Amino acid sequence: MSGKKIYVYRGALTCDVAVVGGGPSGLQTARQLAAGGLRVVLLEAKPEIGADIVCSGIIGRDVFGEFDLPESAVLRELRSMTLIGPAGRPLIYEHPSSFARIVDRGRFDRNLGRAASAAGAEIRTGVKVLQAAVSDDSVRLRTRGPDGEPCALQASVLILATGIQSRLQSELGLAAPAHHLSALQWETEAPVDMAPSMYIGREIAPGAFGWAIPTEPGRMKAGLITDQDPQEPFLRLLKHLRPDGPRPDKKDLRLKPIAQGLAPRSAGPRVLVVGEAAGQVKTTTGGGIAFGLIGARVASDVILKAFRSGTQGSTAYAEYDRLWRAVLKREIEVGAYARRALAVLDDAHIEKLMDVARRDGVIPLIRAKGDFDWQSGLILDLLRKAPIFRIFREVGLPPGPLKGIWS
Ligand SMILES: Cc1cc2nc3c(=O)[nH]c(=O)nc-3n(C[C@H](O)[C@H](O)[C@H](O)COP(=O)(O)OP(=O)(O)OC[C@H]3O[C@@H](n4cnc5c(N)ncnc54)[C@H](O)[C@@H]3O)c2cc1C
Repeated sequence: MSGKKIYVYRGALTCDVAVVGGGPSGLQTARQLAAGGLRVVLLEAKPEIGADIVCSGIIGRDVFGEFDLPESAVLRELRSMTLIGPAGRPLIYEHPSSFARIVDRGRFDRNLGRAASAAGAEIRTGVKVLQAAVSDDSVRLRTRGPDGEPCALQASVLILATGIQSRLQSELGLAAPAHHLSALQWETEAPVDMAPSMYIGREIAPGAFGWAIPTEPGRMKAGLITDQDPQEPFLRLLKHLRPDGPRPDKKDLRLKPIAQGLAPRSAGPRVLVVGEAAGQVKTTTGGGIAFGLIGARVASDVILKAFRSGTQGSTAYAEYDRLWRAVLKREIEVGAYARRALAVLDDAHIEKLMDVARRDGVIPLIRAKGDFDWQSGLILDLLRKAPIFRIFREVGLPPGPLKGIWS
């Protein structure tokens, strides 16, 4: 592996790895590759890292230690969650300790950017990658810089960490996740004693859920994720949440799709797709930070190994696709199934389900087995509980790979 100097070669900037996308997945990949000694250039279209982000910033507590994440963006710890059903009756879950943290996402990303730079990665913002072309011995990128000036970058390997924007990966024959949900978020004032809450019900959040999470004193992020247009359901949720509270201006409602399911292929010759672009997102909640960091770790391990052994050939990175699926595929598939199963319940059955959760040992089971990021084991245990089984039997299960779990 060579020194860190990035140099110009026949009119193109040259480096070992070009990372496109300065969200958590791209920044962490760049950080780890640079720490491993590679010359890394990260290109981000936005004018600065952490700008203009739509995210609630809830991250599992264990993730911070596991990925050595800077903690100064943490706004508060999450120890409880109040689930509010269609009839408005709360179900309060309290965990013995903090299970997740709410971060200022802009600051979180900027911290990761600083960590990547400190490791030696070069970060260029305001640079949009317009086109990528892969040849036998390199990848060439055509970009447009902050002043509109065209530029070229040549790298041995390309990481696409472009989030939900999938044009580049499609052009390279690496299809994006086929499904997505639509999410919407509004940042606004909140009562000081507000509890973190989630809302479920056909009327309120069709196909998924709404949320209201206090961030800093007197502020909250309220949002909704659904398989339809989220705007109308969100306005209904707000009425329910704060009948006399302020109403948003349409321009303050931030809409963004969230990937729901695996991308069919995340590696090709000299190209790896990391993070939400690969479908590395929890399908239960739409949280993508933790799984994107896992994708980043697997990608950087595989690339560092390939550089050390000098094997950059056409099949060198197929291992990445196999390795991250071995860790995340089951979580993503079981989560997607659970969300679809919940979506078939009408409001009366959702209330029945919440009543079962109030009794029947559900809360102790969640306390014992629940993990903010690794949910598939708990989901299957819950679905196998007899009273829960009866509720789903009454409405019928959606088709899917787990339909036979009760047979
Ligand atoms: C309303 C809402 C709430 C959410 N809340 C949470 C939450 O609480 N917890 C959680 O874990 N997740 C949450 N998520 C999901 C989370 O925000 C994403 O999954 C996460 O940001 C994905 O990270 P990423 O690095 O893969 O992609 P992104 O963070 O989307 O980063 C991709 C970057 O690539 C850049 N880019 C794209 N194309 C190009 C190009 N051609 N050239 C240069 N740059 C390019 C983009 O500008 C962008 O900055 C939420 C999402 C929404 C919509």
